[in-house]
Amino acid sequence: MTTLVIAEHDNQQLKPATLNAVAAAQKIGGDIHILVAGSGAQDVAAQAAKVAGVASVLLADADHLKDSLAENVAEQVLAVAGDYSHIVFPATASGKNVAPRVAAKLDVAQISDITAVDSPDTFERPIYAGNAVAIVQSSDEKKVITVRVTSFDGVAAEGGSAEIKTLQAVADSGLSSFVGREVAKNDRPELTAATVVVSGGRGMGSAENFKLLEPLADKLGAALGASRAAVDAGFAPNDWQVGQTGKIVAPQLYVAIGISGAIQHLAGMKDSKVIVAVNKDPEAPIFGVADYGLVADLFTAVPELEKAI
Ligand code: FAD
Repeated sequence: MTTLVIAEHDNQQLKPATLNAVAAAQKIGGDIHILVAGSGAQDVAAQAAKVAGVASVLLADADHLKDSLAENVAEQVLAVAGDYSHIVFPATASGKNVAPRVAAKLDVAQISDITAVDSPDTFERPIYAGNAVAIVQSSDEKKVITVRVTSFDGVAAEGGSAEIKTLQAVADSGLSSFVGREVAKNDRPELTAATVVVSGGRGMGSAENFKLLEPLADKLGAALGASRAAVDAGFAPNDWQVGQTGKIVAPQLYVAIGISGAIQHLAGMKDSKVIVAVNKDPEAPIFGVADYGLVADLFTAVPELEKAI
């Protein structure tokens, strides 16, 4: 039994989500290999080789693997899939783009967004916006799995000494090409990796008012997040959305300001270690999951909170 973990990276840095996926692979058991498919990604392979518990790193390096086009990365995975019992991706935008292609071509059922490994063929995954847990047993010979990264503490980035094998890169599929990337500039920690998240909801009232959260986030070293209502109203950018159809976060501290606590929002943050909520409505459902709740008008409470910190 050997598991192949598909590395998440930007050709320079191995992303922490890979460490969470390796942690899930450890729970499955057997040897663990990491595939780095990229361009000029030798440094990433070197970082992957240091990850604790990894036996081997496969590096496929080619121009057409540079931008993680799903069609090409999927072909690269398929080229080595024969050697593996389990193929594991982080359930990130990129992992969720490649995994279904691999599963379809292998003619197996993808096992999505697992939160626990019960045995090498049995996994747990949340359903109904996190209100129930499905226990899924797969009889497929190969298991193609995506891992909810917030459910597995990442393994150590250092301590391993895996060998690095260079693979022959697959040919460019020609099915898609990279056109461009618009990256929002953000000096704050990445939302899904941040240890503290400060999120605002519709209660913030406007994009201008949303700025009120910045000094608080600055003091806490936090990422900024938002409810879908706040995003839909244009108060906050799309990629700040936390929830069922946004990002799943589980920071040490989640501060929800002017957010009611709809189940679709809770689905994205209820595994946070400590939840603080500020809402003027004492009946708001967010107080049902909050460790600390403050019934107050956010426009006075947030500056006071920031000052007190
Ligand atoms: P509201 O529910 O309007 O709550 C605003 C809160 O602010 C209220 O509790 C109010 O008391 C409080 N407030 C107002 N003024 C103040 C003030 N001055 N001081 C203090 N408190 C104040 N939502 C998500 O967030 N993420 C998702 O991923 C998501 N996915 C969805 C997927 C589907 C299929 C569907 C149907 C819905 C989804 N939603 C999602 C939407 C979700 O159902 C809610 O509509 C949304 O979360 C509400 O956002 P909110 O709490 O900011 O707004």
